[in-house]
Amino acid sequence: MTEAVLVADRLVAGYHGIPAVQGLDLAVAAGEVLTLLGPNGAGKTTTLLTLAGLLPRMGGRATILGTPVDHRRPYRTARRGMRLVPDDRGLFAPLTVAEHLRLAAARPDPEREKSVLARFPALEGLRGRKVGLLSGGEQQMLAIAAALVARPKVLMVDEMSLGLAPMVVRNILPAIREIARAEGIAVLLVEQHVELALAVSDRAIVLNHGRVVLSGAAGQLLADRAKLTAAYFDGTATSP
Ligand code: ATP
Repeated sequence: MTEAVLVADRLVAGYHGIPAVQGLDLAVAAGEVLTLLGPNGAGKTTTLLTLAGLLPRMGGRATILGTPVDHRRPYRTARRGMRLVPDDRGLFAPLTVAEHLRLAAARPDPEREKSVLARFPALEGLRGRKVGLLSGGEQQMLAIAAALVARPKVLMVDEMSLGLAPMVVRNILPAIREIARAEGIAVLLVEQHVELALAVSDRAIVLNHGRVVLSGAAGQLLADRAKLTAAYFDGTATSP
């Protein structure tokens, strides 16, 4: 069995001493895509922020490549190869696409930029354009491309589809899937487009009120819609 690159073990996370996520277990192996699903307020973003070391853990363990995530030194987690694309995309409007890609790598890496842009051809002709002038879909592609330029081992993407047309999501999600496979990147997605996300995921976890209410292979979850819907909306299903 492939060793997991990203692990959460009985993770408890939240704010001001109040847990928003309780007892979460997950493991993502190199080249695997795991999606976190769940209604608003379920604890998905809290999970990503905690795994990225941007929020302190309240309990349990989180490791990336076998090393504990330390919220006092989140840059170490980043140096180890973790990249988080936040739901607001984390881009700088006055910078150009090219400047962004250059900023994303620890040192100039034109070859890498070229190979990443080949995955997102829509960005090729926009290298000189300021980020603030890009469409939502172009910005999202850039946010992901910038994260990939850094050759991550772990990529977490929070609600990539926020504000995007399903058509755009349909293009970007498979690109992430392909890159994860080709480069052995462990990917943790948070997605609202349940079916589109499951179509590119190996496994998924449904959170509801901070607890795992369903988990399994993506195909298995897609095959039992009634159970998935119950877990998503009522938090009533339990994992197989
Ligand atoms: P959404 O799909 O709406 O983004 P989510 O599943 O990502 O939801 P979280 O943002 O992780 O949910 O929120 C989980 C819980 O933590 C919610 O009850 C939310 O109100 C609370 N919460 C989120 N951010 C904070 C904060 N900065 N301070 C206090 N509570 C917060």
